[in-house]
Amino acid sequence: MREKDAARAQEPARRRIYRYLHRAQEFCGKGDLAQALCLSMPTVYQHVNELMGEGLIAYSGERQSTGGRSAQGLAIVPDARLTVGIFITEDELRLAIADLRLNQLCYKRVPFRPELAFGAALAAELERFLDESRVERSRLLGVGVAIPGILSPDARQLLFAPTLRMRDVPLDGLYRAIPYPLHLGNDANCGGRAECFIREHQHDLAYLTLEEGVGGAIFIGDSLYTGLAQRSGEFGHMCVEPGGLLCSCGRHGCLEAYCTVRRIRAAGYDVEDFFQRAAAHDPRCETLLGDILRHLAVGINNIHAALDCDVILGGYLSDYLEPWLPLLRQYLADGSFFGSSADYLQLSTLRSHSSVLGAACHFIQKFIDEI
Ligand SMILES: [Zn+2]
Repeated sequence: MREKDAARAQEPARRRIYRYLHRAQEFCGKGDLAQALCLSMPTVYQHVNELMGEGLIAYSGERQSTGGRSAQGLAIVPDARLTVGIFITEDELRLAIADLRLNQLCYKRVPFRPELAFGAALAAELERFLDESRVERSRLLGVGVAIPGILSPDARQLLFAPTLRMRDVPLDGLYRAIPYPLHLGNDANCGGRAECFIREHQHDLAYLTLEEGVGGAIFIGDSLYTGLAQRSGEFGHMCVEPGGLLCSCGRHGCLEAYCTVRRIRAAGYDVEDFFQRAAAHDPRCETLLGDILRHLAVGINNIHAALDCDVILGGYLSDYLEPWLPLLRQYLADGSFFGSSADYLQLSTLRSHSSVLGAACHFIQKFIDEI
């Protein structure tokens, strides 16, 4: 049993019941809860009634039992609470509203240029989004913001964000401007968090996000491995070509210099158009995509050689990579010390929505952990 599962077995009965129902994929009645959680029926009845009274769980249908009596199924009410995720990129905001199962209820992209003091502008976009989405503010647990950069351990300072061209920027203005509970996180950490949340009970994973920059995160079980200085998983600035292309960090040959939206746009293409042209064997696009995938394979092989875990590929470019996955896996197998078939590489389930939903995910997990 993992440490976290052992700790959860010690949680109050109310939380264990809610957590169990939150995970449940199949019919679950009060008797099933009592049996699965080793609780007495009176305890189950008491907490189920309480949670129902608060609108957090509800009956979900009936199941005929062998004695002819029917049992009532139970399920959480996903939209009893809502969270907002915001992802700040180089040139836009992505905003999403999610329910307690991390289902995306509303989504919007708006042009946005983050300047040094962007708190008020971001707050205005958030309020506009909430109005348009007709969200009851009373159901809102909080707002999570994903930032493509390294944050200080207390998340009050943006230490370095090459793609936003920001260094040592205080974030107090953002906390003052947002009138809801606020949580800031690195974009790749958020994306990996979302993948862990929806792949519950899966193995350790490394998450790699391909946006204007390249970010990464390592999850051991469902816990983020942060490193000593919050710098773990900075896969984007791993060298894949010594003396190669200039990177946004000022060095040469980083993975980020090769495998980004920025590189495709710098070559004069819209991203969607670029992938369509490559599929239609436009020689220039095929050559560039081949170069992107080969360097991506070097980076992924390094990650896998070091960590030996599933590698999940997310971010904006992952929306377009499914047709190219066999080729990428072939490059990986060709360059692998282990000669493996590279089926450890998977595309993110949420694709380009991982980071924004991962930002929203923080308050869902907090809600469940404190229920
Ligand atoms: Zn770099």
